[in-house]
Amino acid sequence: MASPNSVLPRGFTWTDYSLLIQEFLNAGYRAVSYGEFDPTQTHVIIRHDIDFSLSKALDIALIEAEGVSAHYFVLLRTEFYNICSHSDLEIVEKIRDLGHEIGLHFDAARYEDRADVLQAAAHWECVILESIVSRPVTSISFHRPANSLLAMSNCLAGRQHTYQPKFFSDVAYCSDSQGAFRFGHPLDREAFRARAAMQLLTHPIWWTPELVPDRLDLIDRFLDGRSSLLRREAAANCQPYAKRLAEADGAARQAGSLAGAPCL
Ligand SMILES: [Zn+2]
Repeated sequence: MASPNSVLPRGFTWTDYSLLIQEFLNAGYRAVSYGEFDPTQTHVIIRHDIDFSLSKALDIALIEAEGVSAHYFVLLRTEFYNICSHSDLEIVEKIRDLGHEIGLHFDAARYEDRADVLQAAAHWECVILESIVSRPVTSISFHRPANSLLAMSNCLAGRQHTYQPKFFSDVAYCSDSQGAFRFGHPLDREAFRARAAMQLLTHPIWWTPELVPDRLDLIDRFLDGRSSLLRREAAANCQPYAKRLAEADGAARQAGSLAGAPCL
């Protein structure tokens, strides 16, 4: 139990995240996998859906590594990262090697809305992901699920999915979707006070070293970083473009130094 004087986290800094997890551990929770989860026990499933930034996910994975293991769900079919690329695969492998589980973040909207099609597609993506991360993929999380998928109680492609009632509607479920705990902070939930089983979902993009009041800035920052990476990669693959980029950088630097020059 936290002492009455302890500072309970309510923000979205990395320190807040670390304190949040610590509060669960102090309260006697055990962080478990979907396979181990028992709704009658003081169990918490710690889950991260990676919609944007793998490197932000690694930041969270490093924070957790000292106390808990969590589930990191990665998209295969996204424009925001590519887990087959050298740099992104390196990040996923680091998260895996910290002792966390890699699951499939499955975007059903990419496929025809038919049960047999979705089963086959999820199986196909799981097999690909398993070959990339060299580990069995035992759980699936839907990306922006339709209501029909939220009501699906059976497994998908032979794997448990995170919205099955035993993980979702039958227990307390907390999510920082869109950058806020809109249904109450996890530590304020009745289930937490009762030490009842919970599933805690966070999206690493929203958690930062320092407080960022405008949450949407975080997406802009991510996109700026991704754009810089792609420009560097384009330069590495095309010499004339590298020259053009260097000239643009030089011109920008020169403009900056002129702007900073004292008035005569
Ligand atoms: Zn998602």
